[in-house]
Amino acid sequence: MKKFFAVIIFFVTVLSADCDSPKNFERTEILMGTVVTLKAEGKNSRAALDESFLALFELEKKISADVKKIEDAAGNGAFVKISSDVYEILTAAQKFSALTDGAFDVTIGAAVELWGIGTENPRVPTADELIAVKNFVGHEHLHLRGGEAYLDRRGVKINLGGVGKGYGVDVARKIFVAHGVTSGLIDFGTSTIFAVGKKKIGIKNPRAEEISGVVELEDCALSTSGDYEKFFIADGRRYHHIIDPKTCAPAEAENFSVSVIVGGREKNCATLADILSTTAFVLGKERTEKFLTENKIAAKIFSAP
Ligand code: ADP
Ligand code: MG
Repeated sequence: MKKFFAVIIFFVTVLSADCDSPKNFERTEILMGTVVTLKAEGKNSRAALDESFLALFELEKKISADVKKIEDAAGNGAFVKISSDVYEILTAAQKFSALTDGAFDVTIGAAVELWGIGTENPRVPTADELIAVKNFVGHEHLHLRGGEAYLDRRGVKINLGGVGKGYGVDVARKIFVAHGVTSGLIDFGTSTIFAVGKKKIGIKNPRAEEISGVVELEDCALSTSGDYEKFFIADGRRYHHIIDPKTCAPAEAENFSVSVIVGGREKNCATLADILSTTAFVLGKERTEKFLTENKIAAKIFSAP
């Protein structure tokens, strides 16, 4: 009986979607530890969503398989072949590690694990543990060449939490473009977003369950990094998930959250926005704006509060 109703509900849902607005589609899935919602309007929008999710589930698998492969081979002297997607992510990450003197660093993995932020057992490490973990963090340990990667020290861990979602947004964005979608939204848990066409996006108040402002985006990516997504409180202090690689402790940020907007004409704009919001949270708005100007990278930064 239950099955029967489920089938009816399924058909009613499909029919109503088809009758009411045949060209507007929306689908939500859990991916990369976040709620991903894709919306598309117009011809081919359903195909664009389906194809995007297929590609994103594939991407998620590639990321975990390649990260494991690289970590397993760490220190053994041999480069390992990885997918072109993960190679591209790591190449972008390494570029910004170099430009930011290591403020953005995907080899932050061991420090992220030590703090356990976002897990059921977060804790403040001892001073000795913090000194020890620094030996296993540093972008200079990650080497890339011709589609292959190598970590030159065993125990160094890759964490793509600060860039993978942005790359995922870019993957979906390219599929939207291929299908001619001109209006829609690619939303990775409001952390990194791409607005296809004109869209109004609410910015979350980092200290309350409310929207603190609205930005209007048109064909551009928006990424926000803050101390409110993943954190724990110990001895009255808030310990959040964005780590300063210099100290291997949560960054002493100037703001509760920082947002970055990058225009859609910029190659892999969402990847860039994702990297830059994490970076700007660690470095602060002014230092980030300075390095962006010096390197002729067009991005707009704003913070709350
Ligand atoms: P969110 O994941 O909430 O969108 P971010 O894009 O700022 O936020 O990414 C934060 C995540 O990136 C952390 O949870 C961690 O996995 C990873 N990370 C933490 N510190 C750094 C850093 N300095 N450089 C690169 N990645 C980092
Ligand atoms: Mg980021």
